[in-house]
Amino acid sequence: MKHNPNKVRKYRTYTRKELAAVFGVCPDTINAWRRAGMPAIKEHCPFLYKGDAVREFLRKKRISKKVPLKENEFYCMRCKAARVSISDIINVQETGKMLGDSSKQIIKRGVCNECGAGLCRMSKQSG
Ligand SMILES: [Zn+2]
Repeated sequence: MKHNPNKVRKYRTYTRKELAAVFGVCPDTINAWRRAGMPAIKEHCPFLYKGDAVREFLRKKRISKKVPLKENEFYCMRCKAARVSISDIINVQETGKMLGDSSKQIIKRGVCNECGAGLCRMSKQSG
């Protein structure tokens, strides 16, 4: 999912509900972002979020998704890095969607060989 960091104003503070409305996500997602490292102003209850901190968080989040992966690699959300799966656990599923004329979209699932977290990657299969 792509969220445009520039949707928030740098010098404004936002409540969780306001942020959720700005990005069109549910308030639980904002909680998830906070747990993933988005800074909140903790003296406030409920939490408030500074526009510039939210921007910074979303920018980093975008970059972290751009880790280049080799054919056999997955992006591990827990390690926050490219990882290979424990090889005999890889499971490939077709999504039923076609990519172009001759490639099928597939989902590969595996298990991180470093931390044991579940891995998932969209890919394509020709023919
Ligand atoms: Zn991992």
